[in-house]
Order: sequence, then C-alpha cells, then structure tokens
Amino acid sequence: MTRSETLFEQAKHSIPGGVNSPVRAFRGVGGTPRFIARAQGAYMWDADGNRLIDYVGSWGPMVAGHAHPEVVAAVQAAAVHGLSYGAPTELEITMAEKICELMPSIEMVRMTSSGTEATMSAIRLARGFTGRNYLVKFEGGYHGHGDSLLVKAGSGALTFGQPSSPGVPAELAQFTLTLDYNNSAQVREVFTARGHEIACIIVEPVSGNMNCIPPVPGFLETLRDVCDASGCVLIFDEVMTGFRVALGGAQQVYNIKPDLTTLGKIIGGGMPVGAFGGRRDIMEHLSPLGAVYQAGTLSGNPIAMTAGLKMLEIISRDDFYAELTSKTTYLLEGLQQAADAAGVAFMTQQVGGMFGLFFTAEARIDTYAQVTACNVGQFNRFFHGMLDRGVYLAPSAYEAGFVSNAHSQADLDETIAIAKDVFASL
Ligand code: PMP
Repeated sequence: MTRSETLFEQAKHSIPGGVNSPVRAFRGVGGTPRFIARAQGAYMWDADGNRLIDYVGSWGPMVAGHAHPEVVAAVQAAAVHGLSYGAPTELEITMAEKICELMPSIEMVRMTSSGTEATMSAIRLARGFTGRNYLVKFEGGYHGHGDSLLVKAGSGALTFGQPSSPGVPAELAQFTLTLDYNNSAQVREVFTARGHEIACIIVEPVSGNMNCIPPVPGFLETLRDVCDASGCVLIFDEVMTGFRVALGGAQQVYNIKPDLTTLGKIIGGGMPVGAFGGRRDIMEHLSPLGAVYQAGTLSGNPIAMTAGLKMLEIISRDDFYAELTSKTTYLLEGLQQAADAAGVAFMTQQVGGMFGLFFTAEARIDTYAQVTACNVGQFNRFFHGMLDRGVYLAPSAYEAGFVSNAHSQADLDETIAIAKDVFASL
C-alpha cells in the first residue's frame, strides 16, 4: 500500500468520504487521491515523496505558484501581530480600494471567507434590492453550495427548479430557474415571460465548472440587455475567472459590466477568502448601512488580507498575464500535437491562464450537452496515465485546468513529453 492509500483508508473513519470537499475523493476518475505533503512553485509532493507538476493550483488560487516566497514572507511577518481581531483594520481598506481599482464595475466590496459565502450573499442582496425571489443560473455552472444554487432544471426552461441535493427544500428550489449556458434565445424567452419576477442572473462569464467553455459572441451581451430591460441584477461569478483570465477578469476580456461580481480563490493568495461587490446603490443595501443582513467573524481576516494583497501586487506586475497566457497556449499546442500524433480525438479551449481538455472530435464545445457527450472514459485513462508519470491534472473531465507563472519552459516540455507517451498508450 502507498502512504496515500493508507492515509485515505484512515481518513474515511473520521472524515466523510475521507475528504473535506467531494471532488478531492477522485470519485469521477476512480483510484486513490494523492495526499499532499508540501508544495513549491509548480510542484506538489505527495505523501509518498512523488513530485507532481501541478495544473490544479488549489483549484485556481496559486496563479503565481505554490508557497510564493513573497506571499509566505508577508504572511509570516503579519502572523506575529495576531491572527484575527474581529474589528476593522486598515488592511481591509487597502484591499477594498485595490479590488475597486482592478475591477472598475466594483464601487464597493465586502470580504467573505469563501466563494460560497460570496455568491450566497450576492444573491440575498440582489433579492433584497429588487424585492423579487426568482434567480436564473445555468446548467453546468457551479456557484458554491448555497441552498438556492444546488438546484437543477425542471423538465423545461419555464418550469420550476428541483433540488439537486437532499436537504434543499423544494419550496426554495422553485425560485431557481436553470437555463442552458450560451443559449441567448432561451434567456430572452424566459425574460419575456417572467422578467419582472427575476431578482438576478448569476453566471460564470467563462464556464469553468463544466470544463472550460467561453461565452459565445452575444451571450453575455444578451444577459446585460435583459437585466437592463427588466431591472434584474446581473451577477458575474468571477470566483474562478477573476484575476485568472486577465487582471480585470472576464468582464474586462468581454467588456461587459455586471452589476455585482463575486470573487474568491486568487484574491486570498491561497488563504480562505471571497468577496462580492459592485454598484454602490446596490451595495448600500447591505447591513449595517441597509437592511440586507450579511456578516462573518473571520471576514477581512488580517492574515488573509495580507496574503491576498501581496498576490494582487504580484499579478499586477508588467507582463504577468501575457506570460501566463503564452505559457498556457504553449502547453495546449503541445498537448494537441501529442494527441494528433497518436490519432486521439482531442481538443482544447483556453481563456488566459485557464484551460479545458476535451476528448472529442468536435471543433469547439459551447454547451453543457456537448461537454457531457465527450469521452469521459478516455479522459480518466489519460488522467491516471499522467498522474502515474508525475503530472497532476484536475481529477474530473468536467473541471478546468490552471497554469501558473511558476511553470517553467522545462515543466511545460516535460508535461508535453509525458502526454505523448500517455496519448500513445490510450
Ligand atoms: N463560484 C465558482 C465559479 C467556483 O468555481 C467556486 C468553487 N470552485 C465557487 C463559486 C465556490 O467557492 P468556494 O469553494 O470557495 O466556496
């Protein structure tokens, strides 16, 4: 037995499924998750001492690489001054001002401790602001595990949502309408019928929780249009895309201004952080200024703010995103050539430092239905082939991958060389 196998068996006795977040358990790809002992730059080392080139990056936050020396030094220096106060600090103002500067659609922002809290809070705020109950989200989108968001589509676009998890009351799920991502006509149809009842649309502007699917031209524009026409709040969930696809997020890449934005992952530099912010007139409805309640004992935590601010400083440096994007493109071109050489039906999609791998003969993937038609069995074999040879990809055919600027040319070349062998073995 490997040490990871031993630890996984032990973990299952005291932690449900052996993990603190389900996708870590390797359910989709099968096998035993690697228990991680430490990480540095582009690498993680598992409990058996294997070095892994990491393309998960803690699911996005480690855009500058693991244990970045400047972030670690800042956190160490801050820690001696206390770990939490539950009272305001100057650091939180610096963080708020920095976020507003980097994302001009955000005029005011509140910090949370996770992406889930950010999306839950943004939805409550949109409902409180509009006085409406319904929300629109898209199939294949993930916005954390808030009750209103663990809802699947009914049998048609105009039917009520149904809970996708026991524990979510049907009475609450009925207020969530789940539509097809990248289907503008359907959005218009639903808004014509019920626009006046809908509080908000929440969308990943680049879908990253069903592999990596960019918006088709006109889709985000349609969302902006219908929200303007109906007085509904447009929420961009940029927990994944924020500071990942570009310094100003997907809203900068596609030049669409949401009313509210949710953030997470990179803004914490690896510490547990989320945030939501946007239009001043909406944000002023939050307690203690307004009546919509939202709070957090550890929100704006000084260590988390210190790590996040250092991360924002690093990614604001010249050429950070040009380098990140070109590294990602280089990797994907290499993987494509390796797959072509082996005759494997395969394609990739990319936005900035975020990518998707698809085992399909299609030229592009725009919809949830197309993603679910990809060859999952082949992905799973590819995943394990890569892992066995020291490359750590997201353990699911439906997750995006992430490159960091700590990945060197040699790391990318090594990954491509390994992929050549693995594709050939499929
Ligand atoms: N929104 C998006 C787009 C996400 O990808 C995630 C997490 N992967 C969340 C929200 C939830 O964030 P957290 O896991 O920090 O609660």
